[in-house]
Amino acid sequence: MRYADLTKYRYSINYPGRKVFNVGWLGEGRDFPTGDERGLYEKLLPYCAHSIEPKPGVYPCPICGETMPSKQWGTKKFSLGHSEIRVVIEDVWYASPTMILHYVERHHYRPPLDFIRACFHGVDPTSQEYSDALYELQRSAGPRRHRHAKMTAILGSRIFGTTPPPEVLQNIGDYDFLDELEAKCDPS
Ligand SMILES: [Zn+2]
Repeated sequence: MRYADLTKYRYSINYPGRKVFNVGWLGEGRDFPTGDERGLYEKLLPYCAHSIEPKPGVYPCPICGETMPSKQWGTKKFSLGHSEIRVVIEDVWYASPTMILHYVERHHYRPPLDFIRACFHGVDPTSQEYSDALYELQRSAGPRRHRHAKMTAILGSRIFGTTPPPEVLQNIGDYDFLDELEAKCDPS
């Protein structure tokens, strides 16, 4: 694995004072646990429909080489492999590449039980509670991440119907460029 499961996350960003752990950062080879968890794929879909920390470039699957697998959740189309998701239960966060959806589906990767529990019993990624928690997590990474947090909140509101924080709504006109960005990200 590129990062062992449940080690402290610090790939894209640090979140001072927060418990954020790696899950699903597979590398080449098959040195990962396998086993199918019924329903996990469906649980992961909405997280991947609203991913964060996008990176430029193409990141193929390190196991089979597939690039940018296309997925759909409701009417939202998206591709995997260039961004991340956050799963939260209580005050514990898990950070995974969106490719985890492909690893589970195609390579039968079995994440740690604590992560699976968080996917099934943690904060619903389509909820207002999740949107607010993610916003706070991203802001905890420091002022340079505040703009990113605001963009995440707006994009989340479009997919899940959540309400962005008041300070975002006040300046929502500043984010018109997100329409263009979204169109680019939509593989359809
Ligand atoms: Zn693969």
